[in-house]
Amino acid sequence: MADLESQLAGNLDALDRRIRAAAERAGRSPNEVTLVVVTKYAPDAAVQLLPRLGRLDLGENRPQQLVRRADLVPEARWHLIGRLQTNKVRMVLPHTVLTHSVDSPKLLERLSQTSGDLGCTSAVLLEVNISGEASKQGFDPEQVRAAWQSYLTLPNLEIRGLMTMAPFTDQPEDARPVFRQLRELRDDLRDRAGSLVERHPVRDLSMGMSGDFEVAIEEGATLIRVGSAVFENIPQ
Ligand SMILES: *Cc1c(COP(=O)(O)O)cnc(C)c1O
Repeated sequence: MADLESQLAGNLDALDRRIRAAAERAGRSPNEVTLVVVTKYAPDAAVQLLPRLGRLDLGENRPQQLVRRADLVPEARWHLIGRLQTNKVRMVLPHTVLTHSVDSPKLLERLSQTSGDLGCTSAVLLEVNISGEASKQGFDPEQVRAAWQSYLTLPNLEIRGLMTMAPFTDQPEDARPVFRQLRELRDDLRDRAGSLVERHPVRDLSMGMSGDFEVAIEEGATLIRVGSAVFENIPQ
């Protein structure tokens, strides 16, 4: 166990240094960036060590796995970062602090409705398909702009910002225009939220993964979702 813990602590320290350096390059405070540790490829034993290492923001892409792991590590704040079907909303919502991957008006409406039923307010990000790839989930940017006022008036929701996935490539710089466009879209939507900005901060940008989080931070990410870089050399 000690080996696993020290390996994990070493990986996280290295990651923290890279996060800090990227923030400094961009003239930002590293405190503006929250590392969401994506645990989908990690064994339970490693996930259970994370709170001890000061890591409380954890992400899963599958609702069922999130619920199971929220039970295993209840002191963590669990983020849902992957596809959510409307029939899983009721199951996962009570365990989730932030749903990053709201990819359709239908899902947004269901989250609003179910939050009302449960007597809570749910924090969400709208996933936007900036790159326009057919394989990617998410709102079309023009769709969000056009329907923005109707989203803002849905009850029991707090729209905290936007999320995107960059195109899959081994060149982090390829992601920069995508991240920049997400930031510009957020700025525009926040400007147009009017007084509803008190209910919907529209501040967060969830962008950047192991291969491109430094570029994402330079372009304004407030939440980065990192899995493989955290669990490098961790035995399964
Ligand atoms: C798996 C996953 C990540 C983390 O990817 P890594 O490249 O392992 O850091 C981030 N976001 C989403 C939506 C994911 O599914």
